[in-house]
Amino acid sequence: MNDRGMGSWTTRRARMTPERAALAQDGVATTYRELEVRATRLAHGLRLRGVERGDRVAYLGWNSVAFVETMFAVAKLGAVVVPLNTRLAAPETAFILADCAPRLLIADQGFDAVLDSGEVRALGLDLVGVDDRVRAGATTLGEIRESGSGTALDEPIALGDLFMIQYTSGTTGQPKGVMLTHGNITWNVYNLLVDMDVRSTEVALVTAPLFHTAALNQALFPVLLKGGTALIEAKWDPERALRLIEKDGVTMLFGVTSMYQSLALTPGFDTAELSSLRNALSGGAPIPVALLQTYRARGLNIIQGYGLTEASPGVTMLRDTDPGADGAKLGSAGTPCFFTDVRLTGDSGDTGEILVQGPNVSPGYWNRPDATAAAYEAGHWLHTGDLGRRDADGHLYIVDRLKDMFISGGENVYPAEVEQAIYAHAAVAECAVIGIPDRTWGEVGRAIVVLRPGAALTEAELLAFLDTRIARYKIPKSVVFVDELAHNASGKLIKARIRELHGAVNEENP
Ligand code: AMP
Repeated sequence: MNDRGMGSWTTRRARMTPERAALAQDGVATTYRELEVRATRLAHGLRLRGVERGDRVAYLGWNSVAFVETMFAVAKLGAVVVPLNTRLAAPETAFILADCAPRLLIADQGFDAVLDSGEVRALGLDLVGVDDRVRAGATTLGEIRESGSGTALDEPIALGDLFMIQYTSGTTGQPKGVMLTHGNITWNVYNLLVDMDVRSTEVALVTAPLFHTAALNQALFPVLLKGGTALIEAKWDPERALRLIEKDGVTMLFGVTSMYQSLALTPGFDTAELSSLRNALSGGAPIPVALLQTYRARGLNIIQGYGLTEASPGVTMLRDTDPGADGAKLGSAGTPCFFTDVRLTGDSGDTGEILVQGPNVSPGYWNRPDATAAAYEAGHWLHTGDLGRRDADGHLYIVDRLKDMFISGGENVYPAEVEQAIYAHAAVAECAVIGIPDRTWGEVGRAIVVLRPGAALTEAELLAFLDTRIARYKIPKSVVFVDELAHNASGKLIKARIRELHGAVNEENP
């Protein structure tokens, strides 16, 4: 085949295991042959709609067979898929859409507030509904698929070609599009197959959002490469997940910390039959050792991974077969993935910023040569903005973040972005946003605000003001009004001091 990219995977699988179930959603299975036929027809249909090689196709939707099919169809054309975070507010989504300028926006139902917002409408995008419930009169994905032929596609696509743009936020307050090539994701999947014993009989529960690299590249794509089955769940529902694990004999799961936490609190967890679950992977945020132990008591070893979108995302992993994984190394993020290398900056001992290099590392940011130049150093070593420590056996521990960011329920929150939204309020003179510990979400935001002289503003008013401007998970859970904030000599906020003064979770500072 001329197509070396991700779009060829369904073709290659369909010639190997056509009758096996590739996907299943709500009890309905899609075989590899069906997935190949659907993705091929959709690719032809998208081309008729004007999508050409290199064009971006944005997708705003819940996990679904349609989402998976769209990714393969777009890949087959050599076009670029842009999965959008379903949790973002309208102005945030509009910024991303303006930045990537997609040829099409494919949207699921449930996003009227975003789709009907002035900001998104002003972009005048060609909107395609996942089905006919999205917008009356809009073309549906099904209609586009029906319009396409079933003739096999085999575009010359190389591993270095761009396949996906994944937006992440940054310390400057504006999202950046991480470019991921067909090769980046393929190598990430190879890494995972070396790290974990993924089998052709795997049944993976894909319930974390497919718009992030973790569920996509650490669960869905590895399982499809091996010929296993991915159970596609639109959203995370711990009770349902527990039932599916028992009923369908789920063998593999990717989850962020808050998902594992809620699963452990679900009635029936203590007695549920979990023995089928061999590969339970977590990543994207720190995971408390106590939670790892709760699962170990149920005979389940959660495999902790460390990574970031720019690395597609896998960087290191503590495999359950690694020496010490069952005790001494618990809580460590493990050792580097097979084809990926890690280095720590500085020569002052064993702690430094984590740098990553490897075939899974993104070539850089979409349309942002400045940001790309700032993030990489000679040899294409990526600065992660995370601080790590390596023990004598080479195990990595994530000790802190250099970047001003906190993680709430697996989603990254960059205070700069939240502060920018708070500054839009006329009563605010100055503000700082910090992350504080939270039992459910790991961390949540707290805004420390100085009001303009004579201005009045309540916590509730400020939080309501933020509601349509930024995603809900970014909105602080509490606001502390103060007379002044700590600055250094050059006038910059001293976040460490502000955290010290206002970051405590206690009665006065709930
Ligand atoms: P994202 O690009 O959304 O995948 O977020 C990546 C960031 O999440 C990393 O740069 C880390 O700050 C954090 N992160 C990922 N995995 C871990 C982990 N195992 N432990 C602690 N922090 C993590």
